[in-house]
Amino acid sequence: MSEVADNLALVRQRIAAACQRAGRDPSGVRLVAASKTVGPARIAEALAAGQKIFGENYVQEARGKAAELPGATWHFIGRLQTNKAAQAVKLFELIHSLDSARLAVELDRRARAAGKVQEVLIEVNLAGEETKAGVPEAELGDLVRRVSELANLELRGLMCLPPFFDQPERVRPYFIRLRRLRDELRESSGLALPELSMGMSGDFEAAIEEGATLVRVGTAIFGRRGR
Ligand SMILES: *Cc1c(COP(=O)(O)O)cnc(C)c1O
Repeated sequence: MSEVADNLALVRQRIAAACQRAGRDPSGVRLVAASKTVGPARIAEALAAGQKIFGENYVQEARGKAAELPGATWHFIGRLQTNKAAQAVKLFELIHSLDSARLAVELDRRARAAGKVQEVLIEVNLAGEETKAGVPEAELGDLVRRVSELANLELRGLMCLPPFFDQPERVRPYFIRLRRLRDELRESSGLALPELSMGMSGDFEAAIEEGATLVRVGTAIFGRRGR
């Protein structure tokens, strides 16, 4: 087996074990292989090993890879610029990082032109970090209302990218917070909001224990970036 296939098998085992600990059905957790900076050959190894969903941070980079790798499904997990909305709608099944009404309106317009209903998650900036993307908690309810009024967007849930800690237990409170916000929004909006995109290589097991339905894992599959 290739190194990527070995790593994938291990990540899948860890996902299954976390599901078991949490009493969850493993089919309720989808693995998104975060493939920014990873070349098409290594992504092809993951595809050959049964990995279907790849998460990309840059539209241009993803376009090139998608052209070379038919059969893969692409999710957008980076910061999306409004002027890339049209290309993003063409390429991505799910956009994890919607964080403003302006971007929502543009995605909706471009989705309508493409004859598509674009699935999106709203990214929440839980720690109020100035350098990070995501809508502040205080503005989340408003943005949910705006997005739910747009006919060509389907809001599927929430995403977070918490501050980095090397101990998963320090990140866990953010995962719990995101799930609670989702639960509250479900009550107040009546939307189903089934998806929670949270957890990366260092902490995806804790995220699954707290309800993640999409985990975005790069390093644990492809090795350290920049090799
Ligand atoms: C790169 C990236 C990941 C994956 O991070 P790893 O620590 O390599 O698993 C997850 N989410 C986002 C938004 C990323 O940019």
